[in-house]
Amino acid sequence: MEKLYVEKERCIGCGACVNIASDYFDFDDDGKSQVISNENIDSEVVNVAIESCPTGAIEIKENDVCECEDCDCGEDCHCDPCECENCHCGE
Ligand code: SF4
Repeated sequence: MEKLYVEKERCIGCGACVNIASDYFDFDDDGKSQVISNENIDSEVVNVAIESCPTGAIEIKENDVCECEDCDCGEDCHCDPCECENCHCGE
């Protein structure tokens, strides 16, 4: 399954992705984009959003990376139990 990621450090909150692909992106409390859904990703729409991002903050990856639902780090960790620095879920 493919999964969307927004690199917050790169996002400048321009809103392009939110306007183009509002089913998948919305602003967080800091005015930066966040992924709100990975369900039924329309790759055509998402690719336009990715190409429209002025800072290259959006990525779509095959979900062969961290699968922890509490994490979303996108790191290639496969840790079991989860030792991801972004997570601490201990699952
Ligand atoms: Fe942030 Fe890029 Fe979306 Fe603009 S298009 S809000 S910079 S992720």
